[in-house]
Amino acid sequence: MRVTVLGCSGSFPGPEGAASSYLLEVDGFRVVLDMGSGALTALQRTGHLYDVDAVLLSHLHADHCLDVCGYYVARKYRPEGPAPRIPVYGPAGVHERLDTAYRYPAPAGLAETFEFREWTEGTHTIGPFRLTLRPVWHPVEAYAMRFEHDGTAFAYSGDSSVGDGLVEAARDADLFLCEASLLSEWNEPDGVHLTGRQAGEHATRAGARRLVLTHLPPWTPGDRILAEARDTYHGEVELARPGAVYDIASGSG
Ligand SMILES: [Zn+2]
Ligand SMILES: [Zn+2]
Repeated sequence: MRVTVLGCSGSFPGPEGAASSYLLEVDGFRVVLDMGSGALTALQRTGHLYDVDAVLLSHLHADHCLDVCGYYVARKYRPEGPAPRIPVYGPAGVHERLDTAYRYPAPAGLAETFEFREWTEGTHTIGPFRLTLRPVWHPVEAYAMRFEHDGTAFAYSGDSSVGDGLVEAARDADLFLCEASLLSEWNEPDGVHLTGRQAGEHATRAGARRLVLTHLPPWTPGDRILAEARDTYHGEVELARPGAVYDIASGSG
């Protein structure tokens, strides 16, 4: 499995890159996990604007899904003809949410270009991936995603506060891409995001083999988030950065 960071800026795009979006690929099959503002810029840089097989949305907050609107235009109005219709998976109401965001008139809306499918908890087969969804704490319906393929596991937190579901998603993962939006000293309300310390704690409880911290808002000091995570997780840990590529080899770790 290969993961490319298209965007890792938390809650809104940063000066150097897009809001949440990640390209996951294996054997030429590609899915985009979340599509926050600026994701399309980064996706075009990979050279794979049109060869995406599905879009998978962890939740429907604006910073995780609004570039689907631009992607609709890119696929539908491509000069050489529309790109094939692909599935867009997301929480309940995903189709209506994105039609409204685009301000598309009923009835078909973006469904001309995307086949909208609403998530159900549990395990799904998406191309070569075995995907298990775990509900996580966040103010809206939100999921952590665990992908397995050929003996390797990759987990993505989406946006999540503390909880066992996140630990289960990341159990023994070869790579755990986990949000760490907050400094502990900020005393933010529970149920929305994780501190660096909490991200490390969850990775340790899960037995994750490698931790990459993401979804840091532009005002969040990365060095201090990293230091917090290192207090509670003693494996390999780093901050996500735009354009970073992670190859998760079979049997790694
Ligand atoms: Zn977010
Ligand atoms: Zn969110």
